Amino acid sequence: MDTPQDILRALGLNPDALTGGTLTARSPIDGAELAQVHEHTVAQAHSAITRARQASLAWRDVPAPRRGELIRLLGETLRENKTALGRLVSLEAGKIVAEGEGEVQEMIDICDFAVGLSRQLYGLTIASERPGHRMMETWHPLGVIGVISAFNFPVAVWSWNAALAIVCGNAVVWKPSEKTPLTALACQALFAQAMQRFGDAPAGLSEVLIGGREVGEALVDSHTVALVSATGSTRMGRQVGPRVAQRFGRVLLELGGNNAIIVGPTADLDMAARGIVFGAIGTAGQRCTTTRRLIVHESVADALVQRLHKAYASAPIGNPLDSGNLVGPLIDRGSFDAMQDALKAAREQGGKVTGGERVLADDFPNAWYVRPAIAEMPGQTDVVCHETFAPILYVMRYQEFSDALALQNGVPQGLSSAIFTNDLREAETFLSASGSDCGIANVNIGTSGAEIGGAFGGEKETGGGRESGSDAWRNYMRRATNTINYSRNLPLAQGIKFGE
Ligand code: NAD
Repeated sequence: MDTPQDILRALGLNPDALTGGTLTARSPIDGAELAQVHEHTVAQAHSAITRARQASLAWRDVPAPRRGELIRLLGETLRENKTALGRLVSLEAGKIVAEGEGEVQEMIDICDFAVGLSRQLYGLTIASERPGHRMMETWHPLGVIGVISAFNFPVAVWSWNAALAIVCGNAVVWKPSEKTPLTALACQALFAQAMQRFGDAPAGLSEVLIGGREVGEALVDSHTVALVSATGSTRMGRQVGPRVAQRFGRVLLELGGNNAIIVGPTADLDMAARGIVFGAIGTAGQRCTTTRRLIVHESVADALVQRLHKAYASAPIGNPLDSGNLVGPLIDRGSFDAMQDALKAAREQGGKVTGGERVLADDFPNAWYVRPAIAEMPGQTDVVCHETFAPILYVMRYQEFSDALALQNGVPQGLSSAIFTNDLREAETFLSASGSDCGIANVNIGTSGAEIGGAFGGEKETGGGRESGSDAWRNYMRRATNTINYSRNLPLAQGIKFGE
């Protein structure tokens, strides 16, 4: 399983069918062409949505635990193909092998979660004010769920949505990033295998649309798509959110983050340094939960920053398929340029920047490897308030804890946040109503690497959506309130007498 063609074959894709298309899939590892993928037209997108609608009409009547069986089989199929799919993630998104496989593990975990959930799609029983009446709520499938996903989690985000949506009785139409079409086609091939093992699931339960924005817009504007779950930049969410709202559709937005770690004076600095380094340079700074800001108490700032410089200097950068490397490439030249622009702005705004330059250009002239950057800033300047999707860590110092909290909350995004401290008051204040304003707030753990059991998502410009664990399944269902009268009278609520 060495060449990309071998991997595609192992995952059930015929590489010969991946030629002659209009979308060139390239590996960010070396810029090499992997395939020429066929794009869908808007008309084909509409046909796929119609097929999904038909499938959802049959699927909604299948008992939920039986629907769970399909997702159990998907989990099994993913287990059997974890190495191959993980490697394809590495090839197409540039993640190191451990992170590529970790992403597939996340898919397996959400399948397990969804299987259990398929027996727990429960509603409430509510006390009725009327005698001989029972009131309850039931949850029903929405129909067709549209999923739009970003390049940086090319497979996990689909599975977070699809595993829950399908046990909830829906069909899914997925528009992956145009930068990662192959992993999407591979997921679809694995889903087809699970469908075959299952036996009688309706065709069209999972559809994939390859293409750019226009194809995504077909999902956004279709009245047949009940929920659009969109993961990507805040720029994308600003376009998608209002358009779906215009037709009274539902949206689940998972957008950009600008995640901070506060390090207090009592923190375990070894632990903090490890958490910061993993969060800031892992996946080459291309996670939505990447640590982008460090807010450190002045009493420990010099010691911590020194440790970070040392760790950064020794972090191996290079081909993510070589197990010794921890930092792979940026996705493309556009990302590299955006990083350079941000570093220039950071310098202009008084920052002291270390790193950030291109490396390995001789070995990989068509790929974009960088040394992760640390920018010591005089304050939370304009550039710090923006998400640059690259490994830049902005460092700011504080004296008073209240100032640290104000910095933490003083950006437009609200995804993930963390504090390293051994001071109970600081930790609890950070988690309280007047603490972090993010969807994720951690103590003595970094900002990235969430488990699937919790609800994932963030506030403010991050979009407010919640996916994955906890009760995120409710996003994929509609709630009906039912009142049943088992008496021989027809009493009206609020004691109203009407024509009696
Ligand atoms: P992007 O916004 O460029 O693209 C994301 C997806 O949206 C792609 O599939 C793209 O084709 C589609 N798209 C763009 N404009 C659209 C439109 N007007 N209508 C319909 N579809 C449209 O994002 P990217 O560069 O692929 O990913 C990086 C971004 O994603 C970062 O901002 C990152 O923080 C964010 N992200 C967020 C989460 C989260 O859970 N909050 C997870 C992963 C990535």
